[in-house]
Order: sequence, then structure tokens, then C-alpha cells
Amino acid sequence: MRKVVYPGTFDPITYGHIDVIKRGLNLFDELIVAVTTRPRKKTLFSLEDRVKLAKESLENMKNVQVKSFNGLLVDFLKLEKASIILRGLREVSDFESEFQTAILNRKLADYVETVFVMTNEKYFYLNSTAVKEIASLGGDISGFVPKPVEKMLRDRLK
Ligand code: ADP
Repeated sequence: MRKVVYPGTFDPITYGHIDVIKRGLNLFDELIVAVTTRPRKKTLFSLEDRVKLAKESLENMKNVQVKSFNGLLVDFLKLEKASIILRGLREVSDFESEFQTAILNRKLADYVETVFVMTNEKYFYLNSTAVKEIASLGGDISGFVPKPVEKMLRDRLK
């Protein structure tokens, strides 16, 4: 059984993340969406809400679990007995920071590999910050996020 961990803030989960998850499931048997606390980054949604939205958005998907962690990703991997990290790439600008993070994680634990998948071009431009901004300005976000996310965003930004 090949297990992969897909870490991120997921503030909130979007169709871009879900596209990465589907691609990950083509490569691995089991996928854990690992929602993390961000001590130095302010999130719109609490950790509990980010986990809840991810669970609701992924409930029909087999072989996917949603968990949360705080602390080092490599420690979470150890706990899960996993050694592979999944990340999504949108554009060249993602590459630099992703490259640094992947190398750092490997320095922390040399058996850890990071696997990247390219998003569908439909989602190249999509990120959680833009979705929150469009929602706050009253724009239509139904093409960017699943229904439960849309609903919670609308309620939150009322
Ligand atoms: P982080 O704050 O750790 O970057 P995010 O929740 O923003 O966490 O993103 C998690 C991962 O999902 C990252 O690898 C990011 O590049 C990827 N991702 C986010 N949106 C998309 C998208 N539209 N297409 C492909 N990958 C994406």
C-alpha cells in the first residue's frame, strides 16, 4: 500500500486542491489530506472549520482521509508511517518555494520524498486568497469551490 500525505493550509479547500487530490489518487493507494496550523499566518477559517470543509468536500472520495497536525510535517509523516509528500504546482512561481521546502524536509528526514503534480490548466489561476477576495466582493465563486465551502464563505463574509 502506497500512502501519500498532502499537506497544506486549505483556507479553504478549492477545486484546485481537489484536482491535486484526484491526481494523487491515480498514483497512490491512500491519501491523507493534512491540514496544518499556521502560527505565523492568519487564516480566515479555524483549523476545525478547515478540516470540516475538507471532509465535507471530499466525502464521496474513496481512500482519502482528512487529518490535522501542528508542528513539523516530518513528525506527522513519522506518526502516519508515511514517507511521501504530495504538492501541487500551478505556475513557475510556485516552484522556488516548493523546491526549498522539499529540500528542507529531506534535510530533516532523508527518506522523505516530495512528489509534485501539475494542476489542470483550468485551475492555474486558482488560489484560496483569490477565492476569499472574490467572495468578499460579492462575486460568484461556484466554479472555484465545492458547495459546503461556498456556503460557509458566504456566511462568514456576510
Ligand atoms: P500552503 O499554504 O502550504 O501553500 P495551500 O493550502 O495554499 O497550502 O496549498 C497546498 C498545496 O496545494 C500547495 O502545493 C499548492 O501549490 C497546491 N495548490 C493550491 N491551489 C492549487 C491549484 N489551483 N492547482 C494546483 N495546486 C494547487
